[in-house]
Amino acid sequence: MIVTFRTDNVLGCTAGAWRVWSLSDGYVEMPADLLRDPQNKPVPQVAQAGALRLSVNCFALGGPGVDGILIDSGGGGWASTTGRLEQTLAEASIDPASITLLALTHAHQDHVYGLLTPDGRVLFPNLKAIVIAEEAVKGFLAETNLSRFQSLLKPVRNGDQVAERLRAVALPGHAPGHIGYTFDTTDDRFLFFGDIVHVPVLQFGNPALSWGYDDDQAVARATRQKAFRDAAEAGTLVAGAHLGRPGVGRVVHDGGAYGYEPA
Ligand SMILES: [Zn+2]
Repeated sequence: MIVTFRTDNVLGCTAGAWRVWSLSDGYVEMPADLLRDPQNKPVPQVAQAGALRLSVNCFALGGPGVDGILIDSGGGGWASTTGRLEQTLAEASIDPASITLLALTHAHQDHVYGLLTPDGRVLFPNLKAIVIAEEAVKGFLAETNLSRFQSLLKPVRNGDQVAERLRAVALPGHAPGHIGYTFDTTDDRFLFFGDIVHVPVLQFGNPALSWGYDDDQAVARATRQKAFRDAAEAGTLVAGAHLGRPGVGRVVHDGGAYGYEPA
């Protein structure tokens, strides 16, 4: 993978004939006591900080078989600090009208509300499909202002091929139907892993730390540990909404735990 473009909000990479962009939709401040130890208790040294700033990233793909694919849409008007995806796409010279397929990792608001701009416009006028795990459809449709997209929903299961070289992979625990996407170029494997990590500075070094909004913390913890182990062993590039900027990097073994090397 070669980095070809870098600003605060955009990372552009090439891998073989393919391109991957990491695009900032902004950030969100969350209570620091949402970071939990294995007993589901806040981590005292962290909780003292009061608030944690989480990045909100989306990813776009380009090249043979994957032109016009976006992974997650950010928070739109969900928070006052999200919803900058439209400007970030312009910074990356990506026309929202070129996006035809949105692949969602799950249906939480910071990943789906970006279908609409903060002022309520449809951001992707030529969208033809929204890929989502079967178990996440109910949560998506519970968002009444997104019901206009119902006819576009295309439920998938673990292992389903979404596009050429792009495959859905179950990453259970954080939310109903939380899935990731593997993207195999000739040069690199990427794993877009959604909300496996919320606090990168702490969770790579201690993958047992969970997030208060993980539906099933034990399952989410096991998923995180397996994702780190597999990515470190295979040299996979991981990409996540809350990985900070630039939002893409490698997992490395670090003693008994892991480290994270941003791109
Ligand atoms: Zn999230």
